[in-house]
Amino acid sequence: MLVVMQEGATEQQTENVIQRLVEMGFTVHRSTGVRHTVLGGVGPIDDFDPAALEVMEGVKECHRIVSPYKLASRHFKPAGTVLKIGSVEIGGPAVVMMAGPCSVENVDQMEQIARLIAEAGARIIRGGAFKPRSSPYSFQGMGEEGLRIMRAAADRNNLLVVSEVMDQVQIPLLLKYSDILQVGARNMQNFNLLRELGKVRKPILLKRGIAATIEELLLSAEYIMSGGNYEVMLCERGIRTFETSTRNTMDIAAIPVLKRLSHLPVIADPSHGTGKRDYVVPMARAALAAGADGLLVEVHPDPDHAISDGAQTLRPDQFQELMKQAATIAMAIGRRI
Ligand code: PEP
Ligand code: MN
Repeated sequence: MLVVMQEGATEQQTENVIQRLVEMGFTVHRSTGVRHTVLGGVGPIDDFDPAALEVMEGVKECHRIVSPYKLASRHFKPAGTVLKIGSVEIGGPAVVMMAGPCSVENVDQMEQIARLIAEAGARIIRGGAFKPRSSPYSFQGMGEEGLRIMRAAADRNNLLVVSEVMDQVQIPLLLKYSDILQVGARNMQNFNLLRELGKVRKPILLKRGIAATIEELLLSAEYIMSGGNYEVMLCERGIRTFETSTRNTMDIAAIPVLKRLSHLPVIADPSHGTGKRDYVVPMARAALAAGADGLLVEVHPDPDHAISDGAQTLRPDQFQELMKQAATIAMAIGRRI
């Protein structure tokens, strides 16, 4: 249920509508736009008459939302969401570059990468300290020590940090060191984790599961948002298909589809999307051209010796080239880096 308030509706009128929605059994989520306040009523109630709300003072219009996700739906915020994190805006005119190694390995590696990406124009450093590895015998990440190393390197280079949270118990640590909490593909439907992330007040980068539909991705975003955390961005990182030439099949079409269905910023990860470093730059270009609000890419000072995901990790020179090409693409579609 969506109630759009008139331009200039008073706070009292809005409060009255909220009160009425609550009486009807809805949980109310409020979105304040430039012109209109939109009230999203979420609840199991189906048999109500929208006319009862439409006649209330200050109400412009009322709609029943038929999609299974409500708060993530574009109807809830037609102008689109721009996340403001420090001085970085995600979802606005600038496309935002997030880059770094798959895993945090040591101080030297992170200091070198932080300097490299900052000088090339990236705003956010990535690096996993808790790694969801397919094999229990593979490197599992440096944990808190890794987060500390990445935070220090980021601060020295005026970068924000994004890092993965694998389990609820890790949330306090991530909140301490990271500006954005990443939910990995394997956890996209870890509903307990999503619910806990609904309670935090830091942005979440939600990756698409390896076998998840676009609707399932949006429903997972809805889990987080229905808990009150509206700061969610969606990430296309490739899905598993019958194709074996690439690690995953990068679903570029998901980008415009998500932009149409949802108001949330969309990020593309061509590193996991392809699995091979030579394909990362072309798919990064394609993702930006398709409307991605940002890129998440893996880069390492010496990718052939990276502890994880070396094959899909860019060398520093490839990353610098990517940044140049990204700027060209962004300009061509009326955006900037
Ligand atoms: C990662 O970003 O390093 C990662 C593990 O990604 P995904 O969850 O998409 O596999
Ligand atoms: Mn990786």
